[in-house]
Amino acid sequence: MIAIAIDGPGGAGKTTISKEIAKRLGIVYVDTGALYRTVGFYAKECGLSVEDSKKSEKIVPLLSDIRVDINYYGGTQHVLLNGKDLGDRIREPEISMYASAVSSVSEVRDFLLDTQRNIAENNDVIMDGRDIGTVIIPDAEVKIFLTASDEARAKRRYKELREKGMDVDYEQVLSELIERDLADSQRDIAPCKPAKDAVVIDNSDFSLEESIAAILKTVEDKTGVRALEKQDV
Ligand code: C5P
Repeated sequence: MIAIAIDGPGGAGKTTISKEIAKRLGIVYVDTGALYRTVGFYAKECGLSVEDSKKSEKIVPLLSDIRVDINYYGGTQHVLLNGKDLGDRIREPEISMYASAVSSVSEVRDFLLDTQRNIAENNDVIMDGRDIGTVIIPDAEVKIFLTASDEARAKRRYKELREKGMDVDYEQVLSELIERDLADSQRDIAPCKPAKDAVVIDNSDFSLEESIAAILKTVEDKTGVRALEKQDV
């Protein structure tokens, strides 16, 4: 089994890059942020404010109403809330703030722990999130902390949301990213930070292909595993 942990702040390109690496290495990609987004979505559906979603006495009672599952079909990951696929509704900027709020509650993190660990125990994976190398798979062979400047991350996130047809404002995307990263990196439980043995990559000036190449090189150096060459496919 091989496990590649990719942690880092929002907008560093973790998802796009990890998906492509999974394809090239023939392993499973797991987007753990989608799990927190799904719980955040439910908190909003239940009428909680973002502030209240940080309070365990408000959010914990809701956990007994829900099942959050990861399924793979059509070659991609789908997170199901009580059997229902929410699609891009969990990608809305407002849901990002809810996800960050619920993720600061330890019971929410415990609720989602087994789902993440089971996938890593039974598959070769590249898993992205905030605490993969520090908490979820502390013995991962490869740990990367992927980061970039605030502006580079906000530009990428803005473009991504626009491409999904969402009517977002650049300044708001930037300020929400900064606010979320601050909360994610300063919280008491599972803060977003590099594991002691992580390789830190700042990809502010990298193209997508350069980011992929930097990570594939780290994977090869650490494990000897190489991406499939075109003629091998
Ligand atoms: O990665 P993504 O932006 O989808 O994550 C949404 C939020 O979920 C993050 O801002 C963070 O608060 C939380 N999260 C987390 N631990 C993870 C993945 C995401 O706390 N492993």
